[in-house]
Amino acid sequence: VSEVIVLDVGHGNSAIALGNDFALLIDAPDDPAVLFAIADLRIERFDFVVISHRDRDHVAGLPAVLANSSLSIGTVFVPADATKNAASYQTKHLLGALADAKKSGRARVSRDLDDAIGNELSGGGLTVDVLAPPFDLAMGGPGGHTSEGSEILSNTTSAVIRVGRDGGGSVLLAGDADRVAFEALAGQGADLSADILVFPHHGRDSRLSNEREFAEWVCGLVSPEKVIFSVGRGAIARPSPDVVLGVKAARPGVYIACTQLCRECAPDPLPTGRTDGHLGSLPASGAADMHSCAGTLRISLVDAELGAPDPSAHQQFIDAWAHDPMCRRT
Ligand SMILES: [Zn+2]
Ligand SMILES: [Zn+2]
Repeated sequence: VSEVIVLDVGHGNSAIALGNDFALLIDAPDDPAVLFAIADLRIERFDFVVISHRDRDHVAGLPAVLANSSLSIGTVFVPADATKNAASYQTKHLLGALADAKKSGRARVSRDLDDAIGNELSGGGLTVDVLAPPFDLAMGGPGGHTSEGSEILSNTTSAVIRVGRDGGGSVLLAGDADRVAFEALAGQGADLSADILVFPHHGRDSRLSNEREFAEWVCGLVSPEKVIFSVGRGAIARPSPDVVLGVKAARPGVYIACTQLCRECAPDPLPTGRTDGHLGSLPASGAADMHSCAGTLRISLVDAELGAPDPSAHQQFIDAWAHDPMCRRT
């Protein structure tokens, strides 16, 4: 076994990496697809659970994962974040669940995840490289400033993790890393190359003055053959059209897959008569409303090819039902 599963969780991120007697969960939004996928895959233990950063769409489902008594868990990595409202229900609920897990021995809980950990999370034939946050950004944490004076947001300290296999393929899970984070990584000469990129921050960042240029730059650093956007069919078009154009400019011929069918590509009302037989068998959050595009993706790390959905069936779905798909624009 060596694969990475990128779950369709709507707006948010969640990925599962599976090796031989080894499983890693990266991000746990509050979406039923997370626990359903864990059950369908018959996962009984996560060696590691990594929360990339403390935004809701990455962490709100962690208490439910911890409460799942059929799962054993090794270590949960979750960062400190002074910018999260300590009085909010969500923060209290999360911290309460983590404190219970730590005190009861349910799982080890650690705030110590940064690039200095290197490939210590590897296992089961998988190489797991923690590329971000850089040590100094993590030590300051959200709410601070870099030595150049840039504001450090939660997204700036997002984990960036590459999962690969010796002699096989690799997937870069970029979390919500922003320009300041990528500048720090590029500045220290980090090797970010990967066959497949799950594009940072769901393919949109309104703080950027030039999203197309950012996307070109990031894809130049990573050189992916395939780019995945983990997005929901929300009112805001994600990914942004400029990001998709930047990806295509940097990587001509790149295969682009969005977990859900964006309104930008297929406005409301969606045409009736759609079928979603192209989707894989694992749970996808958009499947019930037929809002999935690629849905949940299964990536073999043997060759970095998609096991699901079948790429040609996914392309036929786009041709048939998306009015003006971003992935086809030039
Ligand atoms: Zn996010
Ligand atoms: Zn975020």
